[in-house]
Formats: sequence, C-alpha cells, structure tokens
Amino acid sequence: MSILTRAALLKGPYDIQLIEKTLHCGDDEVIVKNHLMGICGSDKNFYRGMMPGNTNEFRHAPTFPFPLGHESGGKIVEVGSKVTEFTIGDSVISFGWNNNFADYFVAKPFQLQPAPEGLNMDLVALGEPIACAMYSGMNSNVQLGDTVVVMGAGFAGQVIAQTAKRKGAHTVIVVDMLEKKLILAKDLGADRTVNLRDERLQDVVAEVTEGVGADVVIETAGSEEAFNLCSEVVRHNGSFVFYSWVTQPITLNISRWHDDGLNFINTCLVHHTHHHRFVWTPGTLRPVIQDQVDIKSLISREFSLDDIAEAFAYADNNDAAIKIVLRP
Ligand SMILES: [Zn+2]
Repeated sequence: MSILTRAALLKGPYDIQLIEKTLHCGDDEVIVKNHLMGICGSDKNFYRGMMPGNTNEFRHAPTFPFPLGHESGGKIVEVGSKVTEFTIGDSVISFGWNNNFADYFVAKPFQLQPAPEGLNMDLVALGEPIACAMYSGMNSNVQLGDTVVVMGAGFAGQVIAQTAKRKGAHTVIVVDMLEKKLILAKDLGADRTVNLRDERLQDVVAEVTEGVGADVVIETAGSEEAFNLCSEVVRHNGSFVFYSWVTQPITLNISRWHDDGLNFINTCLVHHTHHHRFVWTPGTLRPVIQDQVDIKSLISREFSLDDIAEAFAYADNNDAAIKIVLRP
C-alpha cells in the first residue's frame, strides 16, 4: 500500500516548502503517522545553508534540495512483510533523518524506538532530543558537590543543567548570550547564570571555585568560542563533556587538554550504535516520566505543519526560542 503525505522540502537556504509525495513501504520498513515534530538546532543550520558532511544516518545526502526533519514520533500505520519488531498501532520515537517534517514518514525498524509506558505523546514525539540530552546529562560524570558549567542554554543545555542539579552538583552555572534563555535556566534550577555579553565566565568560575576551576564542563553551544571557553574554565583533571555537533572547522586551543590531564566524555547517544541507543533510551526517559526533569517548559511555541515556512522564519529570528514544534 502507499500513502500520500505532505512533506517538507528545503529547496535552498531560507526556502522551505511543503510538497505532496507518495510513500511506499518496503518489505523491511514501516510507515509512521506523526503526532508532533520538533525543530532541532541542526535543522536551523540546514535552513541557514550550513550543511554537514554526509554520514550513513541520512536517508538523503545533505545537499539541496533536502527533505528535512528528524525529530518526531507517532503511531505505526503500515508494516513491511519482513518486519518483526513492530506492529500496526505501536507508538514510536523516531531516531533517524527520514524527512520527518511530514504527516507520515517511512523508517527502518532500527531507526525507531518503542514509546515507553507513561510518557505523553507530545513528549514521545520529542523523544529523540529528550533522550539525547538526558543521556548526556546522565553520563556527565557529575558528582555531589561539583561545580558544573553548562555551555549553551538551548534545549539540550536546559535538560543537562537540570540533570546536573538533580545528580547532586553543588553549583550549576549556565552560560549563554541570550538573557531569555538564562532566565528560563534559573527558573529550572540553575544556581548561577552567565551572560557572556555582560560577564567573563573565567571570572565567575574563579570566584565560585576559589580559583580551582569547574569540575565538569558540558559543551552544548557548538562554537569555537564555546569550546575554547570550556577548555579554559575546567579544573586540573576535570571532565570535559562533548554534546554539540560542530559541522564547520574550528580552531581550538588545546594546550590544557594535555597539560591539565582533562578527562573527555563523548555523550552522543545516537552515535554509538543503535543497539546501545535501544538499551539506553528507556533509562533516559524514566526521569522525564517521573517528572524529575521539566520538558514542557522548554516547548516555546507550536505551529501547524501547514505553516512550516513561518515556523522556520520564526526559529531563525528568535534564537531565544528553545523548542519549536509542528503539529500535523
Ligand atoms: Zn536533533
């Protein structure tokens, strides 16, 4: 059977349109009807014309015109004859770039994750960004008493900062350049925020830690400045946690990485193997189901899928928006 869907096509920078296309379900594929979709920071980069190199996670190579979208979830409506993992009606989280800004999308079973019991469907649909950020927060090596710097107060930074606090960090410092994001971080439990337009992070960390440096730095901003600042403020033998996806070459000052014996932790849930992701994801979503981490406050604005061009223009003009969602 085939299904007609509306789907987003990014024709070129700043030019996104909804087109109609027919989806065919291969023997080893399923078709999912979307409940909700999320716009990711990486989608914004694509929209602004910054494309990453090709990897095997893309169904379509990242060149224009590009069928955009990866954050979504919903219910399976069609199952290929060789698929044994899922049946029609299953609720699933998408973990793949399958042109998910659409009413329906096609996926391979390994790109999907069963929705855990007790998670509301809006959050199921945001299961990928939630699980990725939670995984980073839960594997960040934060201990009781730590001073933790979270660089970047976007969706991931907000989740990771909450997780650090819940894990027993003494002082969580959230860093950004947009005041609205920092106010939200404070509302969600950050002890201290630093707006880099007003303050030097080096001074704040030196003051808070009496010159020792942060025990853990978590990089979610993805810029050269952010990486270099993290490298400066982490303490001797401290932990440097990677989260962000930097798709453009940057220049790093890494002398301290060697000299101060830094410990590096790569916390990319989806870039180990899908088996690893499959095992880890339920554990990352459990604290969300238990309300230990607030996700709903991170949903800044909802648009109809019909208005995807407006939604992207809004995302482009409002960097302080955390998560913008699209409803079919
Ligand atoms: Zn994403």
